[in-house]
Amino acid sequence: MVDRPFLPYGRHVIGDDDIAAVVEVLRSDFLTTGPAVGKLEAALVAATGAAHAVAVANGTAALHAACFAAGLGPGDEVIVPAITFLATANCARYVGASVVFADVDPDTGLVSAGEVAKRCTTRTRAVIPVHLTGAQADVAAIAQVARDANAIVIEDAAHALGGGPETDRVGACTHSAMTIFSFHPVKQITTGEGGAIMAHSAALQEKLSCFRSHGMVREPARMELSYEGPWYYEQQSLGFNYRLSDLQAALGICQLTKLHAFIATRRALAARYDALLASHPFVVPVTSAQAAATSARHLYSVRIDFAALGVSRGALMERMRQAGIGTQVHYIPVPHQPYYRKLGSRPEDFPGAMRYYFRTLSLPLFASMTETDVERVVETLTSSLHALGARNPS
Ligand SMILES: *Cc1c(COP(=O)(O)O)cnc(C)c1O
Repeated sequence: MVDRPFLPYGRHVIGDDDIAAVVEVLRSDFLTTGPAVGKLEAALVAATGAAHAVAVANGTAALHAACFAAGLGPGDEVIVPAITFLATANCARYVGASVVFADVDPDTGLVSAGEVAKRCTTRTRAVIPVHLTGAQADVAAIAQVARDANAIVIEDAAHALGGGPETDRVGACTHSAMTIFSFHPVKQITTGEGGAIMAHSAALQEKLSCFRSHGMVREPARMELSYEGPWYYEQQSLGFNYRLSDLQAALGICQLTKLHAFIATRRALAARYDALLASHPFVVPVTSAQAAATSARHLYSVRIDFAALGVSRGALMERMRQAGIGTQVHYIPVPHQPYYRKLGSRPEDFPGAMRYYFRTLSLPLFASMTETDVERVVETLTSSLHALGARNPS
């Protein structure tokens, strides 16, 4: 092995412009929330077409804030896809609501309106569809089901910033009340840790901003008691310190100027994967050609029928790791987790999610990869499968 760099499944891309933007904040008067946070929020509004944006400490805080602003609490049920990151479900628990899992499509991992409808009860108050891998869940259809159930829709778009058709970008909240993003380093843009909620109304935006900073209100017109002077503030609800810093916001603003370029590169790399895998005997891309057009291409996930091939996924991952290629599994079905089992979930109730989980593998995809890297990944994947004795299932 010559010293080719290790290819993780995902990573950030930081340029000198990003570094300069952060250094500039370091020399300014504000390190924590200052002018850069508002600028990032305005840039997010411009990038998505949403009415409002509230930047917070991370994507999980964004989900928590969204559940709070939606008024969810004990006795309420929140429908969440069985295949997602833990945070999508946990946010409902943070506000005391119950998580009700919906099954997903075994081939795409996406939740459908039909699966959401099956899980609706008189207690359903919210649905959180996830745009898994950057491909879009059918939020318009899910919103119809949610409306009938009198529930609010919160999109978990942690994978999908920069995705969607030009006329209805992810984050615009066309069919939802709120959409959350994460700026974790593996996502499309990063602030180190960071996140945001896009909201369709000023009332939600006000609740979200308040929740981000201890539940404090400062505007004289909004006081419940009498305003006593310029030092005065009121805590009217319970909030947290979920603020994003100006250091992070400055990085986010600079990263956001490159979002289109990042997405274009991700799509080109994914198209190269698609071409190389077009007639592969063992490996099928998760994202269809049709869904690819508007996918934000966070993950390049493939389906491999490990059981039919007689190949261990763990052994394949280890072999590829030794060849300098990182892979990952997105995700273990959340109802499988001991915490959710203790609350009564049974993974066997989600055959689509289990089938998706057993066959999925995410290959490296990030904006500083080259097509040569993609070729190397596919060659290594194919040779590893053969070396592990993959047999043609015919
Ligand atoms: C990354 C992610 C989150 C959480 O974001 P953090 O910024 O890491 O807190 C939530 N949901 C999904 C689907 C994610 O991938």
